[in-house]
Amino acid sequence: MKTLDEVVEFHGHICPGLVLGYRVSMLALRELGERAEDEELVATVENNSCAVDAVQVMTGCTFGKGNLIFRDYGKQVYTFIKRPSGDGLRIAIIWKSLPETEEEKKMWERYMRGERSDEVLKAVHDRKSKKIDAILNANDGDLFKVSKGKMDLPEEAEIYPSLQCAVCGEKVMEPRARIKSGKIVCIPCQDGT
Ligand SMILES: [Zn+2]
Ligand SMILES: [Zn+2]
Repeated sequence: MKTLDEVVEFHGHICPGLVLGYRVSMLALRELGERAEDEELVATVENNSCAVDAVQVMTGCTFGKGNLIFRDYGKQVYTFIKRPSGDGLRIAIIWKSLPETEEEKKMWERYMRGERSDEVLKAVHDRKSKKIDAILNANDGDLFKVSKGKMDLPEEAEIYPSLQCAVCGEKVMEPRARIKSGKIVCIPCQDGT
């Protein structure tokens, strides 16, 4: 199992979003089993926030392997499905951030107005740390709405033949090649003049 430190190292900083993704992944691995070495686990994420970096490190579902699918719905929803069984887990974040104190509100307003004094920076930092601690220590039930069951598997990552673009000479995979004036071109060359 990967650690939170490894997740933070990959992402570059610790933040509430990343920690949420870490908790999502812990639950997915607990329910569905191991981290994906290959493509035995597929994740669909409905946002491209910090949380997705945690999902990639923890679950082994990565953009490059093709077993991380991004649906741009702007939702805090993460679905994991095992291959070949189709056993799936859909996790929606329901966590509500702790209410802000009057003092925190004031400090945040000052921060938003561009103030970067030690006092304001410390307050913003403390607020973030409090959120991170709250997420790390919350019960699954306070963080997630979970549904489980058989789910439809997305298609396997396919490998396509390469064609050569007639304009730039670079290779382009077949489904992304376009025809322009009777010649095979890549999308940047089709869009160019
Ligand atoms: Zn982040
Ligand atoms: Zn080209």
